[in-house]
Amino acid sequence: MIPRGTSGLALPLLALLLACVVTPARAAWLSRTVDGTMGTRIVVELWSEDKAAGERAIDAVMAEMNRIDRGMSTYKSDSELSRVNATAATHPVKISAELFKLLETALEYSRITDGAFDVTYASVGFMYDFHAHHHPSEQQIKSALPAVNYRHVLLDRASSSVRYTQPGVRIDLGGIAKGYAVDCGIAVLQQRGIQHAIVQAGGDSRIIGDRFGKPWIVGIRHPDRRDEVIARLPLVDTAISTSGDYERFFDENGTRYHHIIDPHTGHSASRVRSATILATSATRSDGLSKTAFVLGAEAAIKIYERLGDVDAIIVKPDGTVLYTKGLEPAGTQH
Ligand code: ADP
Ligand code: MG
Repeated sequence: MIPRGTSGLALPLLALLLACVVTPARAAWLSRTVDGTMGTRIVVELWSEDKAAGERAIDAVMAEMNRIDRGMSTYKSDSELSRVNATAATHPVKISAELFKLLETALEYSRITDGAFDVTYASVGFMYDFHAHHHPSEQQIKSALPAVNYRHVLLDRASSSVRYTQPGVRIDLGGIAKGYAVDCGIAVLQQRGIQHAIVQAGGDSRIIGDRFGKPWIVGIRHPDRRDEVIARLPLVDTAISTSGDYERFFDENGTRYHHIIDPHTGHSASRVRSATILATSATRSDGLSKTAFVLGAEAAIKIYERLGDVDAIIVKPDGTVLYTKGLEPAGTQH
């Protein structure tokens, strides 16, 4: 009961109390994890001034991821990309502006990386099944390998079409589509006025703003010990992708068969154990995270440093860790 003498204070006090109760329910940090979309785990975390609007924004990100998966998955026989793979070797196929642009970007990354990133890896790559522990024979690789070459993919801007120059060419966007989906998810959030968020699709993430006034902390795991972290990076307004030979693999007679394929040999590319790339977009960090597996850490670092807007942390087979100059720990710079 409120004593009579203090009743003048009761109303503002009540308002304050109500405000305390109401504000946390309206503005909030929200987080959601969904397994399965794009064959991976999607995580969205954000700050919203309005909880209900924040939940709707997360719904919209998930819908966007599903939309991209429907068009660009090779696991779906009715996707736009599957349609291209089925017919582009016989005649030019008209494609959406969105797929055209992503293929242009993919070809640009092939040129940047001296062909280490190559979406036609799938001309051989489709014969691997890491889940079923199956790999192609040397003979199968030899006969399919001539179809692996990004130069076999011709884009015609005027007709918005794509054509393959020879039979047997297949494209798979598994090395760039998750990063692209993350960028699209971030764009969806920004259109809704969200300024603090992380969107993750498997190993590809992008961050906008900070978290509780501090950087977001992203850990890079140890290649062999899942629960061990080799580095913790404080990040704001950046994209980060990690590729590792421990993501989808099986070991057979001392050889690791894993999902990053060397376009020159058709075998798993094993010059490094993991590569983490920081870049301005997740499309870019994803597209560039395969390079070191194919070219080796030193050659890849040269490419990244030449680009200027990219940093990398690479774990070599002997466990040593290489950084681009922009990330070298204090005390190691000369
Ligand atoms: P995640 O699929 O978890 O994002 P990565 O970013 O490391 O993992 O991408 C690996 C995927 O990239 C493979 O599963 C495959 O679809 C694709 N890929 C494999 N080798 C190459 C390559 N040389 N160039 C382009 N894409 C590749
Ligand atoms: Mg990726």
